[in-house]
Amino acid sequence: MIPYRIDFEKIKREVAKRGLGKILLQLPEGLSIYATEIADELKGYDVLISTKPSYGACDIEVYRDTLTIQFGHSEIPNIQYPGNIIFVEAPADVSFKDVAEKFADEVKCESVGIVSSVQHIHSISEVKEILEKRGVRVFVGEGDGRIKYPGQVLGCNFSAARHIASKVSCFIFLGTGDFHAMGVELSTGKKVYVLDPYSGEYHTVEEKVDKFRRQRFGAIVKAEEAERFGIILSSKIGQRRWKLAFAIKEMIESTGKKAYLLMSDVIHPENLCYNVDIYVNTACPRVTYDDFLRFSKPVISPLELEIALKLRPWENFTFDEIVEVNR
Ligand code: SF4
Repeated sequence: MIPYRIDFEKIKREVAKRGLGKILLQLPEGLSIYATEIADELKGYDVLISTKPSYGACDIEVYRDTLTIQFGHSEIPNIQYPGNIIFVEAPADVSFKDVAEKFADEVKCESVGIVSSVQHIHSISEVKEILEKRGVRVFVGEGDGRIKYPGQVLGCNFSAARHIASKVSCFIFLGTGDFHAMGVELSTGKKVYVLDPYSGEYHTVEEKVDKFRRQRFGAIVKAEEAERFGIILSSKIGQRRWKLAFAIKEMIESTGKKAYLLMSDVIHPENLCYNVDIYVNTACPRVTYDDFLRFSKPVISPLELEIALKLRPWENFTFDEIVEVNR
């Protein structure tokens, strides 16, 4: 059984409306194990399952005469998508009741901001009600143009948290995995609790944030010594920060150092073997943070470059975020 709520009748209506011959299924890691079950539900259509990893709505695969159905992500409002793609969010079928009650019983936090990735965004109201019944003040923030739902965070955008940070004493992140919670903590300076509905437990991410900060500071120190910079640009529709990449090139060159623009669709750190001292990544910020050990040279974010070039103080260190994309 697929443990996500997927409305196949709605999908079929959309497919009929578009009148395209083939369907391409794009699935993130957690959903790919159900790819064949999803294809079975769409019996009668020519279904292709993409085997390319799908990390976000920033990364789409489209072909002529084919309708792409991207599962597990919501569209990013400030991206102009082609017409032959639809997004099926596939919310997780799980309740936060137990873990939210446990959190409310055990943690003293007078005003709470709730954030979530799209899989659990529908559970924000459930958790809000539980906390408010116990006298906790709850805030859910609106994000910027990259965010579809109030309270939603992406691995590259925490604006929904930042916009309410001054009103809350702590945040809770609904879901599993610590990356988003760490992003919220670094971007707001507020403590974040991760509420995991599967284990029924909650935890904080302070230690991981400290370790992360130390790792990043190590990379910045190396960047201070660098003379030759490789600037990574992505060709993916939702990761194109090309203006930023060109601005960075100018910024580096104005200090008398050398910079080269390196363009790619999927970034394979192992393939980057250029004669540079350091890479600056303008594509998905997760590449900098999750894949840094796979690079042969240090890799830093645009913001970390500014610190290394003494254009930004160390105290202003935070997560790299994508606000808008362009060519
Ligand atoms: Fe997710 Fe990275 Fe895409 Fe942002 S850029 S939506 S973090 S895959």
